[in-house]
Amino acid sequence: MAAASTADFGVEAVSGVLADGHNAPSLVVTHGQERVLINVPEGCQRMCGENKVRMAKMDHILLTRMHADCALGLGGMLLTLSGVASMRLENTAAVDTTFDMNMYGPPGLGRFVHAHHHVYKRKQSRITVHEVENPSRPLELPSGLSILPVALHREESRSKSESDVDAEDETRDAKRRKTNDKDDDDDTYATPYNFGQFRVCSTASKPLDNKVVDAQREFEQVCCCYVMSAPAKRGKFLPAIALKLGVPKGPDFGRLTRGEAVKTPEGKLVHPHECMVEAEPAQHLLIITCPDPAFIPALEQSQELKSFYEAPGVRFVIHLVSDVVLRDDAYLAWMQRFTGPALEHVLFSETLSVSAADRPIFLSSARIQAELNAKVSSTCFAEDLSAASNVVVADLAPVFEKDEATSGGLASRTKAGSARCLCIVHPESRRGYHAASSLLPLGSQASLVTPSSSNPQAARPESEQDWSLTFLGTGSAIPSKYRNVSSILLRTHSGSMLLDAGEGTCAQLARLLGQEGARDLVQTDLKCVYISHMHADHHLGLLNVLAWRARANSSALVIVGPKALGDFLEKSTGAFPGSSPQYRFIALDRTQGSSLPGHLVEVGDVLPGAPRLSSVLVQHCYDAYGVVITLACGKKIVYSGDTEPCERLAGAGTGAHLLIHEATFEDEKVDQARAKRHSTLSEAVSIGKKMGVDYTILTHFSQRYPKVPPQIFESTSPAPSTKSSDEVVKVPMVAVASDLMTLRPATLDHACGLGPKVEEILETFDKTLA
Ligand SMILES: [Zn+2]
Repeated sequence: MAAASTADFGVEAVSGVLADGHNAPSLVVTHGQERVLINVPEGCQRMCGENKVRMAKMDHILLTRMHADCALGLGGMLLTLSGVASMRLENTAAVDTTFDMNMYGPPGLGRFVHAHHHVYKRKQSRITVHEVENPSRPLELPSGLSILPVALHREESRSKSESDVDAEDETRDAKRRKTNDKDDDDDTYATPYNFGQFRVCSTASKPLDNKVVDAQREFEQVCCCYVMSAPAKRGKFLPAIALKLGVPKGPDFGRLTRGEAVKTPEGKLVHPHECMVEAEPAQHLLIITCPDPAFIPALEQSQELKSFYEAPGVRFVIHLVSDVVLRDDAYLAWMQRFTGPALEHVLFSETLSVSAADRPIFLSSARIQAELNAKVSSTCFAEDLSAASNVVVADLAPVFEKDEATSGGLASRTKAGSARCLCIVHPESRRGYHAASSLLPLGSQASLVTPSSSNPQAARPESEQDWSLTFLGTGSAIPSKYRNVSSILLRTHSGSMLLDAGEGTCAQLARLLGQEGARDLVQTDLKCVYISHMHADHHLGLLNVLAWRARANSSALVIVGPKALGDFLEKSTGAFPGSSPQYRFIALDRTQGSSLPGHLVEVGDVLPGAPRLSSVLVQHCYDAYGVVITLACGKKIVYSGDTEPCERLAGAGTGAHLLIHEATFEDEKVDQARAKRHSTLSEAVSIGKKMGVDYTILTHFSQRYPKVPPQIFESTSPAPSTKSSDEVVKVPMVAVASDLMTLRPATLDHACGLGPKVEEILETFDKTLA
C-alpha cells in the first residue's frame, strides 16, 4: 500500500463535448494500474482508438448523469470489455478471465445496463451496478484509490416547471426519513438467461419499480459527482534522530509517529516534524457535474464536497456543466469556495470545449474520405463534414474577468478542457507533460462560424424513380479507424429509412449531411428503421436516433425488427428521465418468415407511400432476417443482414435489382465464416448471381482487415461475359462499400468500376500520411 501514494494519478479526456453540444465528455482516470472510465457517450470506443487511450483493464465505469449524452456508448463498451467482441472476431472460445465490472451512476442505470444483457451475456460476467441516490460509502480500489460518489438532487424551485413541486417534496422527505447510509439495499433483477451475476445495489429506499417511474419524469432528478482520492503518504519516522533529540525508545516513539509531541526526560518538548520525513497529504480529483442551475443549491449544501473546499491535496476540479450554469453567479461563487493552494478548475461545457473544433473527430477516416472524394469519385464518395459543422465557440472569459476583480483570482486558475487534455495530479510532470500543459486558458478559442454545407450526392431524391443508398457503417463487430459498424441509409422521395443502426449512426449522418442536415433527416425525414438481428453492431445506435427525435417531439418512428428488440427498446429508453421517445414497433415473425417468399411487413399501413418490406429468415444467430424492399418505382433492393450463404434469401430476392450482402471474411477464411455463420466475398457474389440481380454491393467487413479484405478487388472485378447464343447468364456488377459512399440509380455502373482506383488510394493512404 505504501507504493500507492506515489503511483501516477491523473485524468485524461477521451472526448470533449461533440460539435453539436450533445454528448458529454468522457474521461479516464488513471491511478497506478487502475483505470476508471467516466461517462460513455456514443462513439466513446472509437474515440479511445482515435486518441490512443487504452481500453484494457477498465473495470470501473462511472456515469455522472442518466442521460442519453452520457450513456449511449455503454452497450458497445460492455461488448468490447467483456471480450465478447474479440471472441466473435477471432473465433476463440471464451476468454478465461472473468468479466467483473463495477458501475456507479444515478437511478435508472441498473435498468439500462440490464436492458443490454443480450450484448455482454457470458457465464463468467459479474456486473454490479450501484445506483447512487443518497450518501454512500466510497469504493476502495486495490491501488489505494478511493472513489466517493456524491449524489445531487434537483432543487425544484430553481427549475422551469413549478408543477408537482409539492408531490416531489413529499417523496423527497420520505426518502430522507428512510435514508440508510450504512447498508446498501441489494436488489437483483430476475434474469431471463443464466449468464453469470447481475446485481443492483441501491442507496434508495424505494423498490426499483417505483424508481423506474421516477426516472421517467420530465427532468432528471439526480446527478452524480465523484471525488477520487489517492491515499496520504504518512511521514516516515526517523528513530536515530529521535534518540539524538533525547527521546527514549518506547511508547514515545509511537506517539511521535501518530503526530503527537512528546516531552523528553530532560523536559524538552520534541515535535514530530523534528524527527519525521514530511507527510504528503491525500491527493484529490473532483469531477463535478451540474447540467442545469437547479442543481446548484445541492452543490452548495453538499457536506461531502464541503470538506474539500480547503483541502491542500485538491489539484483539479473538473466541471462537466452547461453554459447556462457557467453564467450563473451562484455557480461562480461556489467555485470560489475552493481555495486549495495548487487547485485548478477545468471546464467542459457545450460550447466551451469544442476547442479541437478545427479538426474532424475521426481524423484518419476524414482524410481517407477526402482522398476518395477528390481522387476517385465525387459522385460516390462524400467528404466528412464534421469539421464544417461546428457550433460557434463561446468565449466565457468575460464572465470570469468580471469576477476576477471582486474575487481572488478565479479566472487565472480556470482553464478550458478539451478532447485529449491531460490533467496530472501526481507526480507533477509525467511522460514529458507538465501537469496542465494541455489545458487552454479561457478565451483562447477561435470563434468558428458554422458553414451550412452538405454532401450533394446524399441529397433527398426528387422523383419516384430516384433513390439513394448511403453506407454509414461498413465494418463488423466493433467500430474501427476506417469503418463504423453497420448502418445503411435508404432515401426515397417520400422519406428515409435506415437498414440497421449500429452505434454512432447519428454521428455518421452528421459527417455526411452536416449537423443541421443530420438533425433534419433524423427528426423529420426518417420514417422507418429496420433492424436485421440482435447483434450489438446492428442496433445500438437506434437509441440515439430515438433520443434525437425525442428532443424535437418527432412523430412516432416505425421500427421493424426481431421480437427481442421491442423488449430492449422498452427497457433501455425507460431508464432515462425526460419524455419517452415515440415509436411504433413491428416485430418480425419467425413462423411466417421461415417459408418462402418471406413475411410481408405492411409498413405501408402505418406510413403511406413507404417501401414494402418482406423479411426472410436467414442463417446467422437466432431470429436474424434479410429483407426485400420494394420501392415505389417497383424496383427491389435486397439486404442480407448477417448470414452465411442462405437459399431462402436467394429465393426471396430472385429478380431483384440490387443486393446488399455481407462479406465478412476473405475467401481463405471460409472455416471461420462457417463457424461464425457469416459469408465470404465469393459466397456473397455468388448469391447475387443466383438471384439474378443487376448489382451486388459488398459490406460488413471483419475488423481483422483494417481497410478491406485482401484480393477483394480481384474477386469483384467484372467477370468476362458468359453470354452464349441461347443461354443468357446474368453476371451482376459488384461494388465494394465504404463508409459515406452513396449509390444512386445513375451512379451504379460508375461505382462498380471504381475498384482499382479505390485500391490504389487505400494502399498508399497510410504512407502518404507520414
Ligand atoms: Zn451478426
